[in-house]
Amino acid sequence: MENSIDVSTLLRFDSPKDFSSRRAYQAEIDSSVHQLERILGGYSFGKDNYTQCGLKGCRTLHGKGYVVQTLDGIETNIGKDCGTRHFGQRFEDLEGQFTRLVEESARRDRVQDAIRQKDATVQKTVTLLKDCRSWEAEVDRLFKELDRESSLISVLRAAMRTDGALVVDRQLSAAERELSGGSQRYIRETVGRLYGLSVLGMKKVSIELQAEALVPLHELSDDQLSAMSASAIRTKAQWLSELEATLLRAESYIRSAREFCSQQNWRTFSQAFDAGRHKTTDRGRAILKRLAQQTPV
Ligand SMILES: [Zn+2]
Repeated sequence: MENSIDVSTLLRFDSPKDFSSRRAYQAEIDSSVHQLERILGGYSFGKDNYTQCGLKGCRTLHGKGYVVQTLDGIETNIGKDCGTRHFGQRFEDLEGQFTRLVEESARRDRVQDAIRQKDATVQKTVTLLKDCRSWEAEVDRLFKELDRESSLISVLRAAMRTDGALVVDRQLSAAERELSGGSQRYIRETVGRLYGLSVLGMKKVSIELQAEALVPLHELSDDQLSAMSASAIRTKAQWLSELEATLLRAESYIRSAREFCSQQNWRTFSQAFDAGRHKTTDRGRAILKRLAQQTPV
């Protein structure tokens, strides 16, 4: 049944004239005489265009409503809530069909737009994919370098748990100890903050971009749309929403990766080991030096 819905029958009404000028239009009908065939379209007008209801017994000024067609081909406009009042279940069934038709039409437009913008979206996705891949490689390189030294990676992992804060337990001076009442020996201090650590918890965005965005984008074509059933269009429209989210995720990944790899980040990290705040080895110090001096990507 789904395929029998023809969205081309939907009419658009931008002002009351659009329906009142139609040949079959009547300003008033009697719902006890006429039965409904279908809803031709909906309308929603501003105050200046409120229109008198076409149902005898109502004749109220309505801003929102439907243009309906009767079994004998007469058309009129009725208020949004008047249909059920005057025609009961028959109207509710028609309204349900009409709503599905409007939704399907919107989905079809959405897919059509996507086809029209395909080249630009492919271009954008290819660029994002290239950027994601190079940032992934850079993040990976940095992480592996840190992972060679347990004293470094443990500080990084601790920062991941504290939203990037680099926390050290500093021994109190004698004077500070006295002030604190004598029992406390250490104080917890944040000595800096790392940015972009969220990239470490993210799955490979490039794989998602390739499989969920680029491959299905290439498959999108005009021929496909004309052959598509309503349910296939629904699936495509759903994928388009996910595509937007996928592209946003890729952009967000790149922003975070840029922060993660920034020279500033690794200078801050290195400073957390200055003056013995955190302990590391000679190898750790050599790695820190390299990271803090690296040229930003
Ligand atoms: Zn009415």
